Amino acid sequence: MSDQTYTDDIRTNHERAIGTATEDLTVDHWIGGSSTPSADGERFSTVDPAVAEPITEVARGGSADVDAAVEAAGEAAEEWGATTPGEREEYVREWTAVLQEHADELALLESLDTGKPLAYARDEVGSAIDFFEYYVSVARAEAGSHIPHGQDNHVYTRHEPYGVAGQILPWNYPIVLFGWKTGAALAAGNTAVCKPSEEAPLSITRAVQLSADILPDGVLNVVNGYGEEAGAPLSQHTGVDKLSFTGSVPVGQEVMRAAAEGVTPVTLELGGKSPYVVFPDADIQQAAETSAAGIFYNTGQSCDACSRVLVHEEVHGEFVDAFLAATEDWESGDPLVAGTTMGPLTFEEQYEKVTNYVDVGREEGAELLRGGSAPEDEAFADGWFYEPTVFDGVDNDSRIAQEEIFGPVQCIVTFSDYEEAIELANDVQYGLASGVATTDASLAHRAAADIEAGSVWINEYHGGGVGIPFGGYKASGIGRECARETLSEYTQTKAVNVALDDPPY
Ligand code: NAD
Repeated sequence: MSDQTYTDDIRTNHERAIGTATEDLTVDHWIGGSSTPSADGERFSTVDPAVAEPITEVARGGSADVDAAVEAAGEAAEEWGATTPGEREEYVREWTAVLQEHADELALLESLDTGKPLAYARDEVGSAIDFFEYYVSVARAEAGSHIPHGQDNHVYTRHEPYGVAGQILPWNYPIVLFGWKTGAALAAGNTAVCKPSEEAPLSITRAVQLSADILPDGVLNVVNGYGEEAGAPLSQHTGVDKLSFTGSVPVGQEVMRAAAEGVTPVTLELGGKSPYVVFPDADIQQAAETSAAGIFYNTGQSCDACSRVLVHEEVHGEFVDAFLAATEDWESGDPLVAGTTMGPLTFEEQYEKVTNYVDVGREEGAELLRGGSAPEDEAFADGWFYEPTVFDGVDNDSRIAQEEIFGPVQCIVTFSDYEEAIELANDVQYGLASGVATTDASLAHRAAADIEAGSVWINEYHGGGVGIPFGGYKASGIGRECARETLSEYTQTKAVNVALDDPPY
């Protein structure tokens, strides 16, 4: 598949790609090591957002399917939890070798399902594999502790897996976030039941199918379907010992409420409205290019998108010119065509949401400098494409500055001194990520300390990766993924205190 290139018109490209991608594909649940249709036989369609055509049908799960998956995961939990980290590494690496062989196939499914450029989808499949391998490697280096408690006691700790991890995923980076979450759960010795987003279930389901005859049955399970029908029963299930959710704040709150019923520990990775602060001494060209990539990558559908640029008034004019020039690198195109930087929004409601927010921005009096509509090119008329959009003169209290638009819309806000910059940066409910552009190292570190966010990227953006903790302050969530500390979110600590007898002789 890797040597296929797509050079025809968008409709022909996508018809061919859908044919190739779905030729031997059945998208059911994956329960106890087998592809399993829904108990009630229901299915739904997943749609290619570039042409608004169905890709394939997917099993539509409900409580009965969740029950079966949790039961399978529960049955496998004891044996999997008793394997050594080294054994788990062997299993996972055997699977990731197969994922690597199928990377082009997975990337094509991901691109068709989400609308992201094929080349980016390919990178993201590589990133997911990297996360699976990272976690199993790091798990081997975990060590317990001996706690000094006098000569008559031997006290130590054990880090034990919870058992069954329930994992609910969003649609914007399906395969990557599967690596972030499920990689950690399995490496720490838990079994997993994953609920991919109904908007983009293909890459995860296929990746899990590729674990057949490698991972023991029941270790990794998938239930597809809608949030209320499959996600809610999973978050409420008494057989789930640990919950991890990535998605929006309102649904995260629901998951947390459900978790409260069983006092189930929960990791939440939620939304953001992340600032990029441009100080007057910054390299303005670099700041413009970085913050353009920070918002327009993935068509703005990134939890950590820098969706507010806070610019010092002295460099505002220079920055705006440079930013508008940088938007030229982000043009709507066929995701399958090499060189495309921006695909469509992932589904119709997303398109409507972004369109509505742009109307709100206009009504709120922000100045629309660019975009604000679908591209004019007729070739893209059937899909949910949206132009890179730039608002200037944005009031930080306005809705477009406070709410997560989740589209290619940049909001430029001006500040006049350091205190105001920090106040504006922090004056949102979220605290996921942030960026700082400055050539002053001292100022950079001071701002990094003052900004309330889980990530601060200095003179770069999207600076995360394997081994770097990622997660939110404030309403952006609870817990950290991607790093060594993530493993401890999937284990609980048991303290063992042994009274030592006097020596017998
Ligand atoms: P969403 O909250 O609508 O859905 C996320 C998942 O929850 C889906 O699988 C959905 O089916 C399921 N769900 C929906 N209702 C449910 C319910 N009542 N009970 C249980 N599960 C339910 O979010 P989305 O639109 O898929 O994703 C976009 C959001 O995710 C954005 O807010 C984005 O910022 C956030 N996100 C955060 C991170 C992070 O790491 N912090 C990463 C990616 C996306």
